[in-house]
This record gives sequence, structure tokens and C-alpha cells, in this order.
Amino acid sequence: MKLIDLEGFIAAGETASELWERLVEAAVHNRASDIHLAWQADGLHVALRLDGQLTPQGRIASVDESNRLINHVLVMAALDVGERRRPQAGRAMAKVDDRGIDLRVSVLPTNHGRDVVVRVLDRTVSLLEIEALGLPRRELNRLLGLVSAPSGLVLITGPTGAGKTTTLYATLNRLNDGTRKIVTIEEPIEYDLNGINQAQVNYRIGVDYASLLRTVLQQDPNIIMIGEVRDAETAATAVRAAVTGHLVFATLHAIEASAAVETLISLGAHPHFLGRALRGVVAQTLVRRLCPKCAERIDETEAVLPLDDVRELIGPDEKPALSMGRGCEHCHGSGYSGRMGLFEILVVTDELRRLIEERQPTAEIQAAAARTGMWTLQQVGKLAALRGETTIEELVRILPT
Ligand SMILES: [Zn+2]
Repeated sequence: MKLIDLEGFIAAGETASELWERLVEAAVHNRASDIHLAWQADGLHVALRLDGQLTPQGRIASVDESNRLINHVLVMAALDVGERRRPQAGRAMAKVDDRGIDLRVSVLPTNHGRDVVVRVLDRTVSLLEIEALGLPRRELNRLLGLVSAPSGLVLITGPTGAGKTTTLYATLNRLNDGTRKIVTIEEPIEYDLNGINQAQVNYRIGVDYASLLRTVLQQDPNIIMIGEVRDAETAATAVRAAVTGHLVFATLHAIEASAAVETLISLGAHPHFLGRALRGVVAQTLVRRLCPKCAERIDETEAVLPLDDVRELIGPDEKPALSMGRGCEHCHGSGYSGRMGLFEILVVTDELRRLIEERQPTAEIQAAAARTGMWTLQQVGKLAALRGETTIEELVRILPT
């Protein structure tokens, strides 16, 4: 899917700054999350990440022209243009349609040149309501039950780019009624949230998650959001805060909800306190949504995964509609348009609490969670496929088997 003409750049006598403006504009208009400028032996390759997919936009063959573009980006981000051996990171602002766009620039020297990846943060994108996250009604009610607890720990897990931040922001937005102090610790702050105190990690000057969390706890908060738990002190402090009357939300790298328990314990959380603190885990991932313009019903015998385990989960008045995108102009031939979240919600019961305190293996926790009626990511995904919202092929691509 070509969204920008690079070949015209040199022929038209366009400056590096004009090309950069066009690239940022194309990224914002198409809701790309990142702009990639990567060197290969044959020049500088330009790509956008759209709906999670790296989408090549062509290359600039001339080394001089490529370097002009790279240097322009470095200057915009106030980085050292002469530095060719060390990685660098910086920020720049851009204006698209009169909106301020925040750009996070990362520079990695490679064997061919300096690769640049720019994260595009459009803070004016409106926040989602929790109801608009796309959960089936039963799952939405389970999530609302979790986040309305007065205290305790709620974990959000999933791979990078799975929409965890969107879920957390929608949740905080719901809880932000002015009666409770809400403080977040983020890296980076992706949206400005009105009425919420947001602190940003800054490793360069030694401000990490653990030191910020210590300070946040002195600020008399009711609700704390921790962007990511990845060290022993943050893990232990988050759990302690949750058993001492705070409602704590944190994200963690784990694919399945049940695996989050072991991940947090191996990071440094005490099983006994974790058992007391943990209210639930939301595991989340994103799949591509079928294109509404060209989706066609297909026969269920064509499904590459068995669907028997979810057929009974579908409502009595619903007709299964397993579908496939033919590919059309609207979806640029891919058969997909946009993405949707899949959510696996583990709610901690007394039995699960005991298993966590005894540090039972993940498989035991998974089995107990299934007995409480938890739908797995696989099941939620198959259900979405049966409803004609995504495809089984997409599940196979995204979910571990
Ligand atoms: Zn289509």
C-alpha cells in the first residue's frame, strides 16, 4: 500500500524538510504508529507501521539524498548530526492539520548507516470509552467488575502494540470522577489526561519506575497506574501498595492472563502478598478486522481451527457467519480494515487466591481460571471469527498455538 511518492522527491527538487513534512502527514492521516527509515545496501528504505503491519513505501537510492533526510530528522529532534557510532533518542513536534503531533525519534547506527524510527503520537485522538473497546457484553461486565474495586492490583498483559495503553486510559477515564486522586507513571506519556497527574520516566537522569513509584506513594494517591512493571522493586512496591488500600493498574509482558502471576513472582513479588493483592488480569491482543466492503460468508468446513469449543458461547439468536475478505479498493486488496482487541479476563476467586499464595504452576492457575468461566484469547478470537469480525487465519497468525 503506497501512501507517499518517494521517487518524485529528487526529481521535483523537493527539500528534505518538505519530504519529511509529507511523510509525517501521511503517517498521521493514515493513523500509522511509526515511521521507519532503514538502510539496506541499495539505499534508504521507508516504511510506515499501519494497523500493526510494516508497510513499505519504497526507497531513496541516493546516499546523499538519504543522508539529507536523516540529518533533517536529527536536527528536528535536537540530536547530534555528527554522531555516527552511538545510538540516540530525542523528541520533536510537528503540526498536521493544525494539530500538535509528538514525535519520538530513535537512532540506531547499523552497518549501512543510521537507521531512524519515529513513533508518531497524536495526542488529540479522542479517548475511548470503556464500552467502546470492543469487548463482548459478558466480558465487558467482568472488566467493569474488576476496575470498580476500591483497592487491589489489576494487571493488563499483552505484547507491545496490543492496545494495553488504550485500555488503561479508557479505564482511568471512567474512574476519573474528581473524588479520587489518580497518578500515572508512564514512558512515554501518550495522551494528556485531564484531571489526572501524569509522571514520566526519564532514564537519562536516573528517574525510573521504581523511584517514581516511591514518590507517587507519598503523594496520597487513591489510584496508581504503572506503565510497565519490569524490575523487582517496582513489582514488590506495586503489590504492597495494592494491599494497603490503593487501586493499582499495571502492565506486564505476558501473553496469557494466567502466566502473569508467575511473571510477577519471578520479577520479585511475594506470592503471599500477590495472592492478597491481585483482583484480576486482562490479557489483550489486537487482530485485524475484516473489511466491511468485501467480506463474504465461507463454509465452516474451511476453518483451519476446530470451532466446537465456542459454538455454544454464541448467543441463541445469533447466526454464525464465518467470513473472508475478498480484497477491494477500500482495503487496498488486503481483505482487512482496521483492528479490534481480543480480551481474556481472569477474575481472582478464593480458589485462585490460594493457588497463587502456594505458588502453584501456571497450568494449575489456567485450569482453575477456566473453571471460573474465563474465556481464553483463543475462544474470544474464534467467537469473533464466527461473528464475521475477523478470520481464523488472523488468529493463527497472532496467537500462540
Ligand atoms: Zn475490502
